[in-house]
Amino acid sequence: MLKLNDVSAQYNILTGYVKAVDKVDFEVKKNEIFGIAGESGCGKSTLLKVMYDLIQYPLEISNGNVEIHSSDKSGTPVIYNNGEIHKSWWKVISYVPQGAMHVMNPVARIKNQFFDAISKYHDITDKKVLQQEILNYLKELELPPEVLKAFPHQLSGGMRQRILIALATFLKPDIVLADEPTTALDVVVQRGILTMLMQVQKKMKNSIVIVSHDMGVHYQITNRMGIMYAGQMIEVAPTEEIFNNPRHPYTKMLINAIPKIGDNSSREGIPGTPPSLKNPPVGCRFAARCPHAMDICRTVEPERVYMSEEHYASCHLLN
Ligand code: SF4
Ligand code: MG
Repeated sequence: MLKLNDVSAQYNILTGYVKAVDKVDFEVKKNEIFGIAGESGCGKSTLLKVMYDLIQYPLEISNGNVEIHSSDKSGTPVIYNNGEIHKSWWKVISYVPQGAMHVMNPVARIKNQFFDAISKYHDITDKKVLQQEILNYLKELELPPEVLKAFPHQLSGGMRQRILIALATFLKPDIVLADEPTTALDVVVQRGILTMLMQVQKKMKNSIVIVSHDMGVHYQITNRMGIMYAGQMIEVAPTEEIFNNPRHPYTKMLINAIPKIGDNSSREGIPGTPPSLKNPPVGCRFAARCPHAMDICRTVEPERVYMSEEHYASCHLLN
């Protein structure tokens, strides 16, 4: 469905490169919700842009490739590689960017945001018919039709986020990428957004990739997930495995940092800060913060170790 083969991406800045994504390798399967977790600044959003083919200077891909396997109207298989994926936007892959307020045009009514975004990609040329289709879709998602007449600032943050999801899924794409879709929303509204994403996925049987720094979000809706640290994907496994049998020390610390209901003991945060991506350390990038770091960790980069076909982690302790 969507495959990343050893993808590296970097920002070309005046004084060198910021290596935001380093040899990331995983795939998103059909009919699943895949989560990408990690602290802020670990490269999650950049990775999503790479998957969406949203490569604009100063961002560039320096290694590997991204593939999307889809099919055309007649059912013939089609493969899009990075550099071509943008040709499949909205219909095959769509993107819900972070920050529902600033990605919308503040002076356009929601109806026109739909028209502007979709008209180029939609076969329906009659505006009235298209408007009816949009209305039907909003109804399907239990969104009030009045929102079409509203300007973004007249709607709540949660409603704007729902509209972005509606927009991104209107043409029934195979893959939907969502960047921090619940951040900055209160818990009740968050829950509603997650439920909406799950319902859409269930109905369309497509794949959703959700980026969130919040492990609770992943626990609630993802089927499989990847943990990123300092630009690298350090563990990938079914979500249940990540929570019940994490293998990388960083994943273990992320899980231990989650507050649990009924447990009032203070939770351990993860001491220290991630390394600079301009000059990442040799060896394991987590070594400076890892309670198990050994000499080898500071000189040799750990390779992927497979616990099963579905579960890998990169740590010298696993060899
Ligand atoms: Fe810790 Fe070493 Fe494993 Fe890195 S490779 S996570 S430093 S034990
Ligand atoms: Mg981000």
